[in-house]
Amino acid sequence: MAQHEELARTSRRLYDLGWMRGTSGNVSVLDGSQLFVTASGVDKSSLGETDVVEVDGHGAALPGQSLTPSAEARVHAAILEAARARAAVHVHAMSGVLAAARWPGGVPLVDVEQLKGIGRGAHGDRVTVPVVANSQDMAELSARVVQGMDTGVPCVIVAEHGIYTWGGSLEEAVARTESLDWLFEHALRLDALGAVRQNVDTPFLEDQ
Ligand SMILES: [Zn+2]
Repeated sequence: MAQHEELARTSRRLYDLGWMRGTSGNVSVLDGSQLFVTASGVDKSSLGETDVVEVDGHGAALPGQSLTPSAEARVHAAILEAARARAAVHVHAMSGVLAAARWPGGVPLVDVEQLKGIGRGAHGDRVTVPVVANSQDMAELSARVVQGMDTGVPCVIVAEHGIYTWGGSLEEAVARTESLDWLFEHALRLDALGAVRQNVDTPFLEDQ
């Protein structure tokens, strides 16, 4: 089916970007009201169309399937419902995890062209990407991510873990993930250079 092929192709692409190492990460997409998510424990570099599981609103596999859905399927289901999105991406991108360590109260982004990639203004638009604490309890993690959501930002970072991004399609969720990785990397590198970012209220600026 189309969504199986799309999830497999997307997983391999995100693996190639270095964000799904060691079987980490997962992607999901809605087909009508039915949610499909990548299977647990599969190497994303070789994930195929058969490595996709149909799940319910709590991320549990529908009957009659042999594969186990990703443990984080529940988080995907919660995000799609809360954000009214059609697809979600979860990756262990280093940039997001490091940015959350640097700015645990939320990652500030401002004044850079790539912000348009997440639907925000290139200049003068202050964006803070929410950061929530990690949990091994998927019900708890789902609640934290949903509570942490900002309606103007299609991403939540889970500290010491990875990022969740969503969109109206898998293509949009992936494009936003790529923009966010660039933005986090940019913020971290500017910070390392000691550059002052205007309009960003952080401890870094107060040190000046
Ligand atoms: Zn994860």
